[in-house]
Amino acid sequence: MATPALMRNYARTDLAFDHGEGAWLTATDGRRFLDFAAGIAVCGLGHAHPRLVAALREQAGKLWHTSNLYRVPGQERVAERLVANCFADSVYFCSTGLEANEAALKMARKVAHDEGHPDKDRVIVATGAFHGRSFASMAATGNPKHMAGYGALLDGFDRVPFGDLEAARAAVTDRTGAIFVEPVQGEGGVRPPPEGYLRGLRALCDERGLLLILDEIQTGIGRTGTLFAHEHAGITPDILSAAKGLGGGFPVGALLATERCARVLTPSSHGTTFGGNPLAMAVAEAVLDEVLAPGFLEHVRRIGATLGEALNAVVADHPGVLAEARGLGLMWGLVCTVPNTDLIAACRDQGLLLVPASGNVARLLPPLIIDTPEVDAAIAKLRAACATLTT
Ligand SMILES: *Cc1c(COP(=O)(O)O)cnc(C)c1O
Repeated sequence: MATPALMRNYARTDLAFDHGEGAWLTATDGRRFLDFAAGIAVCGLGHAHPRLVAALREQAGKLWHTSNLYRVPGQERVAERLVANCFADSVYFCSTGLEANEAALKMARKVAHDEGHPDKDRVIVATGAFHGRSFASMAATGNPKHMAGYGALLDGFDRVPFGDLEAARAAVTDRTGAIFVEPVQGEGGVRPPPEGYLRGLRALCDERGLLLILDEIQTGIGRTGTLFAHEHAGITPDILSAAKGLGGGFPVGALLATERCARVLTPSSHGTTFGGNPLAMAVAEAVLDEVLAPGFLEHVRRIGATLGEALNAVVADHPGVLAEARGLGLMWGLVCTVPNTDLIAACRDQGLLLVPASGNVARLLPPLIIDTPEVDAAIAKLRAACATLTT
């Protein structure tokens, strides 16, 4: 077979979309789908949100890109919005999730170095993690399927079971500089940690002088019902990576940090050409205007609880298909007893889009703007899909 013009690095479904509106997508063949994938937790405001469309159109007619050789007023505004609404003192912009994680890991090493401990260059990471596909983020992820064939990995990661505070404590050595986890694992199967885990990690970091780095690329920007998921635990990290939801579909990544950490990124120590360009910042500013508007996050918590209750009822009614529903806000995972790909295909046949995850899980990551009608429609489609799989 001839090599296709497009590389084969994705197992794509034979389905393409022409346009979207809110939580709905229309395929090129005219079929409509209720989008509970949202571009993998990216399109938090749904498709073709009027405010985002207007922001991008307006900026597109003015200025696209000037580079980081000059001030970018949009970066200053978005950074100020973020800083005013979370733990961070300072923000760096990039374009993707793995870039934010790469910067986070570089920052952790440089903090140790600049504070006189260059030997504290190791990072404790968790089993089942997903942090991206660069050499550093792939090594932090530690998934053998992702690493096969790529040769020597970046060294410096010590892996412990996710959710096991005592294992993390036991893994700390004189070489440890940081602990790096997702507050709720996404690709790992929508796994919220046990109660007290994040608080325990924060205390451990304080006790041993370590940095707590949180990967909130999937959980951030309102996905779990707070701007960032760590807020549920009542703790703050030292460094946080964000991306996915921040641009609502436009590529934006961000590294957020406390003053102690941010100060190590001095001129020429790190950077990227496209990071925080005017188009990206115009959209991110509009996203934050919406997500931080009074009532928005309350809405996510309320509709998320409604979705969770409804999912639990479906699980109870279809034990031959589903074993468990778990999640937070509008980030839910269905642990399947049939292959998760069968459930996802059956849902797609009913016009409902879901996302697979590890541990035989089907993820529901709907746009944060959904309301009762979309939940009702999704549950009806899920029930219909389960019925087709019940023998
Ligand atoms: C998606 C994701 C990443 C990687 O982001 P990319 O933009 O694909 O590089 C990293 N961490 C988490 C938790 C993610 O969900």
